[in-house]
This record gives sequence, C-alpha cells and structure tokens, in this order.
Amino acid sequence: MRKASDSYRACVARSTAAEGRRERLLKAADTVQMAGQALREAAADRSLHDLDAKDFTVPEIAGDTFVDWVYGNGMQTVEGRAIRDELMAAAPNERCPLCRQGTVRQLDHFMPKSLFPALCVDPLNLVPVCERCNLIKGNKRPDSAENTVLHPYLDRISHESWLDARTIHDFGTVQLRFFVSPPASWGATLITRAKNHFMHFELGKRYAIEANRVISDITYGVDRQRKRGGASMVRDYLQEQAETRLAVDINSCEGVTYRTLAADDLYCFGPSTRESPSSVVPK
Ligand SMILES: [Zn+2]
Repeated sequence: MRKASDSYRACVARSTAAEGRRERLLKAADTVQMAGQALREAAADRSLHDLDAKDFTVPEIAGDTFVDWVYGNGMQTVEGRAIRDELMAAAPNERCPLCRQGTVRQLDHFMPKSLFPALCVDPLNLVPVCERCNLIKGNKRPDSAENTVLHPYLDRISHESWLDARTIHDFGTVQLRFFVSPPASWGATLITRAKNHFMHFELGKRYAIEANRVISDITYGVDRQRKRGGASMVRDYLQEQAETRLAVDINSCEGVTYRTLAADDLYCFGPSTRESPSSVVPK
C-alpha cells in the first residue's frame, strides 16, 4: 500500500497554480503526512475512536474546500485515477469487504472526510465497498472501540471461521438464521465489534436472502437426489458443495448455507418422508 504522502503528492500534482492553490496544497503536505502517521499509530493500538477530528484539519484551507481540491479534483487526474484503481482492485473478486457480498463500486472514507479532511486521500483510510454498505455507513465515525466497523486492512479475520447459521422449519419450508460464531481466540472487544458490524450492515437479513435463493435453486435437484439415493445422497451432495465454497472463503454465505443444510436431518430426509435411504431408491 502506498504511503499517505505519496498518495497526496500524486493527487495534488496537477492542481492549478491559480489563486495560489498549488502552493497552499504543497504547504499542507506536512500536515497530511502527520495526519497519516497519527492514523497509523491509532490503528496499531486499536484507538481510532479516540482520534480528535480537530487534529485532522488543514491550516488555512477550509475542510470541504481541501477535500474538493485534493479528493474531488485530484482523484480525477491521471495520477489520482491510478491510485483509485489500485485501491478498488485491492478487494479480491471485487467483493465488498464489509458485507462480503456486494460488488465494489465506491471508495469509503473509513474516517469520514467531512470530519478528517487531512485523511481524504490516505490509502489506509480508503476502503473499496459496495454501494449499499457505503450508504449504510455514511459519515459515521467510530465512537467507541466496540462500535468501530471492522476494517479490512487492519482487522484480518477472514482466515478464521466466524459465520454460522441454524435452520428454521416452518410449514414445510426451511429458512436460515445467520449469526456471528466467534472463534475461541477472539477477545471480548472483537466479538462485540463483529456482532455490531453484523447488525449495522444488516448481514443477517442479507445472508438469509442469499440462503433462500440457494435453497430455491437446489430444490429440484435435491428432490431428485432424495428419490434416487435418500438422505445420505442429499447430505453428500450438500457437504461437497459446502466444502467447495468454504475452501475458497471460510465464511462464504453460500458455503455456510450448504453446511447448515447438510447438518439438518429434517432437510436431508425431506418434509414428507422419514424412510431410510434404502427404502426410497426407485425401482
Ligand atoms: Zn458491502
């Protein structure tokens, strides 16, 4: 990842000299560098919520003007676009790191640019996200350790299994309820943060919709397998589908959906039959 000062230099490289703009922006370079350092120090000791917005303004340039010049105009230049492209490409498969579901469309200012203008083009502060997550997050800043949104560059939890679900059977239909199932290694603050993040971005609701889609898509195939080989054939199929997806992403919503269905006897046997697999093999 580029340094804050490199990104800033690139974004102001083509700024106009008119009305002393370029000179004023070059004078602000030290402030931007110090702001970037303060951000990294706070990130390292997990105290982003303690940052004081007044330490992230730029002397002699109003915050919104500064953001307009550096982020608004700067990111439209050839140099700025190169930075933007790099940051957008940081999300694997264009998958939004906040919801792990949507497609990356925008850059979110983790510490809002309206309050922390000096961080407006700091790469550590720019997270590629989907439209919906950007809308939900808005201009909110972390106000406590527990309410700090998970940061994809700083909170590397994607290699640990933390997503789980359970089935709900209701009048012959099955639905999934997703929840955070933290690994034993997590501390209390990280557990609360993950749960708050999950609620804040409505992940339970979004994943349940995705699970419904999967269940609907496989209904025909699962029914056929049940008739041919009973519950054990259904379970083998679901487990294989789960393993394939969880091998790529251990917290894949689809993977967890298949895993949860595979573990559910009522689903595997089917709503209308409880026969043993051997008795339902067709002649
Ligand atoms: Zn998202």
